[in-house]
Order: sequence, then structure tokens, then C-alpha cells
Amino acid sequence: MNIKRFIADLFYPTRCPCCHEFISYTQDFCEKCKNNFTLYKKHDKIENCDLFLSLYVYDEKIKPAVMLLKDGTGGNSPYAFACMLYRLIKENELSADIICPVPMFKADEEKRGYNQCNLIAKELSAMTGIEWSKKALIKIKETKSQKELSATERKQNLSDAFYADSEIVKGKSIILLDDVCTTGSTLKSTAEKLKMAGAEYIIALTCCKTEEKQKL
Ligand SMILES: [Zn+2]
Repeated sequence: MNIKRFIADLFYPTRCPCCHEFISYTQDFCEKCKNNFTLYKKHDKIENCDLFLSLYVYDEKIKPAVMLLKDGTGGNSPYAFACMLYRLIKENELSADIICPVPMFKADEEKRGYNQCNLIAKELSAMTGIEWSKKALIKIKETKSQKELSATERKQNLSDAFYADSEIVKGKSIILLDDVCTTGSTLKSTAEKLKMAGAEYIIALTCCKTEEKQKL
């Protein structure tokens, strides 16, 4: 039994992060929403990552849960996504030494109040027993939203935006965690820094993947 969630549920009854129906504190999403999501079944390759897996296709059905993750209080969303990622890890018999959430630039994180990837990493760490680190990978440069940029601008935008600490990642296998993967350029850039810092194996895991026809 998860005592913390049990007690929290007494004061703030747990809701499905997607449709906001009341659910048990032991549940991630309600069954109706979960059965409605589109599983991401492609086997994409992302440069610098040894493996890339995503839970769901980013569509209108899962969008409310992602919005809650990004713009709300997080609600039950980090826990729900972590539960599903945990299942994905078990199904694929994955193992790693550290979970590294994709970082936000400090000022951006302060503006939002949190980094949603850190929230998921914390939950996932508790479930898997794999430690998570927000120091292994940091964002040292403010970048523009990737959505508005061309492929060349994207590359330039992210170049040298991240720093990986070799003291933490050298020789380690890493779960690189992001909420939504659009073009893959953030994962590619962060994985590049991790590899340069000596990381041995990188598993990129995301909650959702958009299905744009852009090159990863
Ligand atoms: Zn629901």
C-alpha cells in the first residue's frame, strides 16, 4: 500500500488525469480513458540514443493529461504516466543505473514552478528503485520553442544548450525521460551530451510521441 497516496486521497480524492472522473488512489487513469489511448507501436531510431520507446501517440485523447502535466498542478498525471512507464520498462525487461529527466532552463522552471519531467522521474524512481538525478543533465542556455523553428534552426537552437556531468553519468546506463517527443531533436541533443560525458547506454523513454512526418 502506498501510504502517502492513501492519505492524500482522503483530502484530495484522486481523479483520472484525463477525464477528471474520481478513481481509486491505486489507479493511474480510469479504465475508459486508458482503453481509449493510442499505443505507440513504432520502433523509431533517435540519433545518439541506443533505444527509443514511447507509451502513447500524442493525440486529442491523451492531450488533457499532458496539459495537466504541463500547465496545471500536475494532479495525478505524473503518477499515472510513471505507472505506465514502469509497465513499459518491465515488459521490455529494461534496466538502468540512473533516470535523467530532460531538464528545463532554470528561469523557465521557476516560472512554471516545477519541471514536469522531474515529477515523473521521482515517481518512476520510487517504483523501479532506480535513482533519479536532476544534476546529471542540466540546461544551460535558454532556447526558443522548437515548434516554431525549421530543422536547421532547431539544430542551432539546441546546440550547446545542455550539459551532462561526467562524474554522475560516466560508464552508466541511463533512462533519458521526456514527456512528449515531437521531432526527437531534444532527445538527440541531450543524449549527445550524455554520451560525450561517458554515458554507456541510453534508453530514451517518453510518455507521448507526435506523429508528424518530420525526420527524427
Ligand atoms: Zn478518465
